Amino acid sequence: MVIVMAPDATSDDIDAIVELVASSGGEAYVTRGVSRTIIGLVGDVERFQDLGLAAKPGVADVLRISAPYKLVSRENHDSRSVVSVRGVPIGGDNVTVIAGPCAVETPEQTLAAARMALAAGASLLRGGAYKPRTSPYAFQGLGEAGLKILAEVREETGMPIVTEVVDVADVELVASYADMLQIGTRNMQNFALLQAVGAAGKPVLLKRGMSATIEEWLMAAEYIAQQGNLDIVLCERGIRTFEKATRNTLDISAVPVAQNLSHLPVIVDPSHSGGKRSLVLPLSRAAVAVGADGVIVDVHPHPETALCDGPQALVEEDLAELRDLAETLAALTGRTLTPASGHELAGI
Ligand code: PEP
Ligand code: MN
Repeated sequence: MVIVMAPDATSDDIDAIVELVASSGGEAYVTRGVSRTIIGLVGDVERFQDLGLAAKPGVADVLRISAPYKLVSRENHDSRSVVSVRGVPIGGDNVTVIAGPCAVETPEQTLAAARMALAAGASLLRGGAYKPRTSPYAFQGLGEAGLKILAEVREETGMPIVTEVVDVADVELVASYADMLQIGTRNMQNFALLQAVGAAGKPVLLKRGMSATIEEWLMAAEYIAQQGNLDIVLCERGIRTFEKATRNTLDISAVPVAQNLSHLPVIVDPSHSGGKRSLVLPLSRAAVAVGADGVIVDVHPHPETALCDGPQALVEEDLAELRDLAETLAALTGRTLTPASGHELAGI
């Protein structure tokens, strides 16, 4: 059983719950997050049931859930969550496009990619300043200099920033610039990193591990939620199979499966799954049609000289089509494309 305390719950309210649970022979594990405190109860659930916990001061929710992932489960959570990234919604009746370069390279390249993202219907800008690369000889990202470029481009275009963090030691710094922290496929089970981003007070985009089951993915989300941060968006980005024609096999059925199991929004990355420009628009179509809450797409003004993942980047000629498919298929599935705010500033 899990108790979610209200954001305004006091220390006395929390202590009272812990004492009550102890008096009934149970144990209470308290995690104090930035915005709320979560109390996990271990012991006899039937006895907890008699304690009247839901009516105690400061208690927002008491969850008795059979799934191993308690806080992100859809059980007892009829409505699906909407996560707000600096005012931009992901989930609910929205289809949200996130776009930008794989990696931040220069101010000019990032600004040009942001303008491309806006033309493609994006309301959020992606771009990696810290890149998890298979080879230690590959471009590792610009680090803080890259975060500064992202912040400048946000200033210029009004687009909130989604950027990856790869190390616990960088979480505070990245969170001081980013509007949403991305956990990449290679770090989905880096539990210390999940806990650190859970405690950082920013929404989190959690990519599915390339060899992770859906249950493992949801358990990873639970690590973040358990720190009191329920602003989590799941991202299906393809899994490893025997197939070599694509970079990864896009598990499109993971979208409705995860949406049925969890209240969290689920988006798709057609770029890192397909791995080829020619596959990105077809896979985006599939993603929105299947009910994904959005897509995250690589775009680049000069893919031929990109320092990272050039072959999968969309180019100028693709942008209108991405915008059009997102708009049209959103409407066909009873939703609307999330508009960008402040895009008049970007000259689109
Ligand atoms: C990325 O989005 O830049 C990235 C590295 O993706 P993934 O973790 O899915 O490979
Ligand atoms: Mn990439």
